[in-house]
Amino acid sequence: MIIDRYNRVHDYLRISITERCNLRCFYCMPSEGIQLTPKPHLMSKDEILDIAKTMVGMGIKKIRLTGGEPLVHKEAHQIIEGLGKLPIELAITTNGIIVDKFIDTFKKSGLKSVNVSLDTLDRDKFQVITRRDYFNRVLSNIYKLVDEGFKVKVNVVLIRDTNDYELIDFLELTKNINIQVRFIEFMPFSGNKWDWSKGVSIKEILDTVNGSYGDKLVNRIEDKPHDTCKNYQIDGYQGTFAIISSITQPFCSSCNRIRLTADGKLRNCLFATDETDLLTAYRNGEDITKLVMENIQAKVAERGGWKNFEELAKPENHNKNRSMVLIGG
Ligand code: SAM
Ligand code: SF4
Repeated sequence: MIIDRYNRVHDYLRISITERCNLRCFYCMPSEGIQLTPKPHLMSKDEILDIAKTMVGMGIKKIRLTGGEPLVHKEAHQIIEGLGKLPIELAITTNGIIVDKFIDTFKKSGLKSVNVSLDTLDRDKFQVITRRDYFNRVLSNIYKLVDEGFKVKVNVVLIRDTNDYELIDFLELTKNINIQVRFIEFMPFSGNKWDWSKGVSIKEILDTVNGSYGDKLVNRIEDKPHDTCKNYQIDGYQGTFAIISSITQPFCSSCNRIRLTADGKLRNCLFATDETDLLTAYRNGEDITKLVMENIQAKVAERGGWKNFEELAKPENHNKNRSMVLIGG
């Protein structure tokens, strides 16, 4: 088992399979773009599958594909099918633009859970946030995934004076459709011009929701073990909503996640800058299981080592971290 000094069992691996993306979300990708890693230094399809297989042998039970945009990888179909053969729960986080082309592959591979990122229900605002005009495609693909029977979660990064006024519109989406809308507190990464005054906290979100519906109609529902979110449902609505409070109420004590970047570096926390180069070791024929265990032993208790909210909230503390597009969320 991949177990750390705080007895946290890590059985959930998130693999970023590409650094490329067909959107340019301002909170994720710096406006000047990112320096892409040269292809020879990225994991190939076979390396992704082999490293994943080794880690499944160490106790990984769930794998989520992410990126960049995982579905723009030229061999995305083959990677999904390959991972589908492993004894794991397979999931994906995508911006949804071309997800309709993958429905058969998902079904064939046993992938049932799709998280789609959509931060606004307004086409013009979508262009402001993502610097591209794909709103209609993403929304219609969300409906298509629901119709096809997938478990769909919609990820919304709430940013003050950008999309915070759409909170209730997003909740109304859950009235007649069985999706989960997940509001994510805005997190700091290199190049995303973060400061917490732009973030919207779980407290503020709940105050707005309770203010609109009345707290008697806002039901707190059960969280699953290791959930990073707190789950809720508006009385009588088909879908649910959740809040991921990584900044104001982090969930580090139950963390079971470990991340592999597209260039084969293992990361034990979103906020930590230390990485372990698995890919080079793999290519040299070394035993990567030892490196995985060393990486997890170095994991700190909370917030990537930032002692408290004040430390975490200093924007200059995050300049050394990668941009989110290079980590994968
Ligand atoms: N391209 C895919 C997508 O957008 O869903 C997968 C990669 S994206 C990096 C994964 C998730 O990270 C998305 O849901 C995105 O909204 C979230 N994310 C990116 N930057 C973030 C930030 N600064 N704070 C919070 N969440 C962020
Ligand atoms: Fe691309 Fe996803 Fe980042 Fe948006 S959030 S820029 S879609 S990787």
